Amino acid sequence: VGRLNVYGIPGLPGIQHETKSLDGNAAAAALKSRVAKEVKRGLASGESAPVLATILVGNDPASETYVDTKHRACAEVGIESVHQGFEADVAEDEVAECIESLNCDPSVSGILLQLPLPQHLDARRLLELVDPDKDVDGLTAVNMGRLLQGQEGLAPCTPRGILALLDHYDIELEGRSVVVVGRSQLVGKPVSALLTQRNATVTVCHSRTRDLGSECCRASVLIIAAGRPKLIGHDHVRHGAVVVDVGIHRTAEGLVGDVDVEAVRGRAQAISPVPEASAR
Ligand code: NAP
Repeated sequence: VGRLNVYGIPGLPGIQHETKSLDGNAAAAALKSRVAKEVKRGLASGESAPVLATILVGNDPASETYVDTKHRACAEVGIESVHQGFEADVAEDEVAECIESLNCDPSVSGILLQLPLPQHLDARRLLELVDPDKDVDGLTAVNMGRLLQGQEGLAPCTPRGILALLDHYDIELEGRSVVVVGRSQLVGKPVSALLTQRNATVTVCHSRTRDLGSECCRASVLIIAAGRPKLIGHDHVRHGAVVVDVGIHRTAEGLVGDVDVEAVRGRAQAISPVPEASAR
């Protein structure tokens, strides 16, 4: 990949950008304030508060942190939350019964089965048991299908977070070239579908992509969810591109993302930093 200028033309000298940081905390605060107002409005008109039910199997510290974070976020915006914990060696049918009873409980509006699950549990089977209208993680086949068909439904949280971040900074998507690296069920596929709905011109790259550098260099907006520390460097980023780094890795040098931030500084117009306090 040759050096690209701001128009992406190889060979011409590029310009230096003062790479800005896309602050996810600011975007989250704005979103929480909107949700809190909505919950308040609902309560004022006689509705009951929404209730999120979380299910955690085992005691993986990262999963415990994620679940705690979700309960705290609920409390901040007036959503009630309940929790069901199971020992790591729980029988699959016991978790299935719990999901089914939450499905039938009219007071519960959303159900979140924290992943990953221990090896002996069939995560796909358990996820599919969640009522699609309570599937707040948007991981059932029904919600994935609704997303692809452009129907109203629940989409997975990380892709929605990516869109919320871009929207918070008024980053235009319509007609623009957006490259997504990764095609997982959790991030790559749903974010590509959401971006297509927003009329972006989406290219999806994966481990078999032949020339990742030149594909990425076409992007005005580059979204990386490959799960490979510092995969993306200087030669993957077009001058002036906006980069969203979804990856997160604990390494000897601390938390790093899928992007080598120092290598792309001065080249990207803006980049999302890897969160320091929590991993998700
Ligand atoms: P995943 O299920 O492992 O999927 C990774 C995807 O990246 C796959 O589609 C894979 O291609 C592709 N890939 C792997 N190596 C590649 C390479 N060298 N070049 C191009 N593509 C490559 O991961 P995930 O669940 O989507 O998560 C991705 C990253 O995001 C992880 O670091 C994860 O921890 C992080 N994450 C962060 C959040 C958050 O809220 N910040 C949430 C979820 C995940 P193939 O399909 O060909 O194998």
